[in-house]
Amino acid sequence: MKVIRTIRELREELWIQRSHGQRLSLVPTMGYFHEGHLSLMDLAREKSDFVVVSLYVNPTQFGPNEDLACYPRDFIRDERLARERGTDVLFYPDNQEIYPDSFCTYVVPEKLANVLCGRSRPTHFRGVTTIVAKLFNIVQPDLAVFGRKDAQQAIIIKRMVSDLNFPIEIVVAPIVRESDGLAMSSRNTYLSPAERQQAPVIFQALTKAVELVQKGERRSAFIEKKISQMIVTADLARIEYIQVVSEKDLQPVEKVEPGTFMAVAVWFGKTRLIDNLELMTM
Ligand code: AMP
Repeated sequence: MKVIRTIRELREELWIQRSHGQRLSLVPTMGYFHEGHLSLMDLAREKSDFVVVSLYVNPTQFGPNEDLACYPRDFIRDERLARERGTDVLFYPDNQEIYPDSFCTYVVPEKLANVLCGRSRPTHFRGVTTIVAKLFNIVQPDLAVFGRKDAQQAIIIKRMVSDLNFPIEIVVAPIVRESDGLAMSSRNTYLSPAERQQAPVIFQALTKAVELVQKGERRSAFIEKKISQMIVTADLARIEYIQVVSEKDLQPVEKVEPGTFMAVAVWFGKTRLIDNLELMTM
């Protein structure tokens, strides 16, 4: 595995790979790898000949009072894990490489970015689409892999690819969970032992929602109420949103049906956790 820090060097390397007819994939990440990230690398490996993983803590997707400065970082460990997982290139640029002082052009998603996480993080998705569009132009992969953990992000990226005609296949990988159901996230390291102990309530509640649907319940409002009652039994949990939404446009739906899913954001102390689950399969 090569660690490459500049766009120029990366382009030279990829030009060679492309000229040998290699199918290229990209896995964009902010590092501090866990099994969720590694599963994306595995999927990229399976579906392509040459895997590029980018590791960049993208400042434009953090709000002014968010955790950019303390976001967990461990390059040495990440490098080892990516290598062990068969990554070909780890692209690890610095801020000047990505956002030189003259930088002033953004990709701004509209409707899909104003709901769910976009309500409390109004500039977040503009930062995500901007960095992902830049990475797509830098790497020009045949396919890119994202995690379902960030369902809204994956949906916005797919929309961007379609709206802006990027010739890139978007693959969405399933959520990888801890053995107690908590969705893996680099931010789980912020949780205190007491918060960590209570955090699995999110997945337990989502599982309960599936059970309700399996028993015939379809009313979103009723399910959302039940789920919220269950989550607040954890005294450290503070709900930001619980919503059944349409996969197509992320708008709330009155009835659970194929093509809808439940999305939640819950705070434990200073840590904001998100999760989601399809309540009914297609
Ligand atoms: P991040 O480093 O948090 O920006 O995540 C990089 C990629 O990994 C994104 O596409 C995430 O959706 C994905 N990802 C993060 N956590 C998980 C998880 N638990 N399961 C599957 N994918 C994940």
